[in-house]
Amino acid sequence: MHTKINRCIELIDRLDESHTLTGEEIQYLLEHVEETSRDYLTLKADATRRRIYGDRVFLRGLVEVSNFCIRHCQYCGINGLNPNIRRYRLSQEEILASCRGGYEMGFRTFVLQGGEDPAFTDEVLTELIRTLRRDFPDAAVTLSLGERSRESYRRLREAGADRYLLRHETRNRDLYQKIHPNSDFDERTQCLRDLKELGYQVGAGFMVGIPGQTRADLAQDLLFVKELDAEMVGIGPFMPHHDTIFKAEPAGSLADTLLLLSLTRLLLPQALIPATTALASVADDGRELGLKAGCNVIMPNLSPPGVRASYSLYDGKVSFGSEAAEGKTLLEQKIKDAGYQTDLSRGDHATWKIK
Ligand code: SAH
Repeated sequence: MHTKINRCIELIDRLDESHTLTGEEIQYLLEHVEETSRDYLTLKADATRRRIYGDRVFLRGLVEVSNFCIRHCQYCGINGLNPNIRRYRLSQEEILASCRGGYEMGFRTFVLQGGEDPAFTDEVLTELIRTLRRDFPDAAVTLSLGERSRESYRRLREAGADRYLLRHETRNRDLYQKIHPNSDFDERTQCLRDLKELGYQVGAGFMVGIPGQTRADLAQDLLFVKELDAEMVGIGPFMPHHDTIFKAEPAGSLADTLLLLSLTRLLLPQALIPATTALASVADDGRELGLKAGCNVIMPNLSPPGVRASYSLYDGKVSFGSEAAEGKTLLEQKIKDAGYQTDLSRGDHATWKIK
């Protein structure tokens, strides 16, 4: 018993000093961590985020631009095969109005996320990005619109996009192919490498507790974000959606997700790590626990309230109250109560120079 605790503490210390471990060592931690070493890891992760980013929590305004999608991701409620959801697509004007509202509230990062919607051509997006950068010159533009060609990513970057979120979802090739029937593991990987080479601040990441996923898989997910040297890492629990084949599966565990967030903080001390919406959806105090485990970003919902329920990635997804931009005062209080301060600046990665 004690040797297991000692072994965990020893691994956590080494991770804290060297910012790396082997896959087997990470897996050992995932399998053997208990209360004492878990608390120790959480404290180390919080100390690391405070050393790099102080007590600041960056807020990003999230605009869910479309729920049309050509992909068939089996866990996701807005996958293109689901006939039961109301599809919507925000117009250029609606997106700009959402961002303007956010800008007036103080947001200086806009995250445009959506399904893979062919209506968002390079022409449409470059015009939108240019307008955003012209109207809000001190704000960053983050895109999260799925897989595109390298040439497309290049054009969007040239138009002024600063960051791109594209979770790798899982590094287990077989599992990836199984849950993404019309996508390709190598293409997703290539997208992430292209985005890095094009000078984006890149966000990778994964879900915790997808049916069929093992702890060995999760260890590989951590090694991948380390190897990619991701600027941002999004990790949230898998949540079932009632229109998918996984509807009866249990949600991913809060404790495992927090553990992976803390390990990520020690592997990549400078990373921007959101306390995700899925984390807030799985437990009432999920966001706060995420912050204490090493997260330093929150992305309140800035979408027009009328479409929020339709961006239904999973059941129970929170999008109102302190999860929404209009609940910012409440959110700021919650952040303060957890022991942190809201920061409304662009909040770039610690190594980023505006290009
Ligand atoms: N089309 C974009 C955005 C996808 S939605 C893209 O491909 O990147 C953003 C993230 O939500 C996904 O990357 C996925 O990890 C997460 N997600 C989707 N369905 C989910 C579910 N059922 N439970 C938890 N997270 C989910």
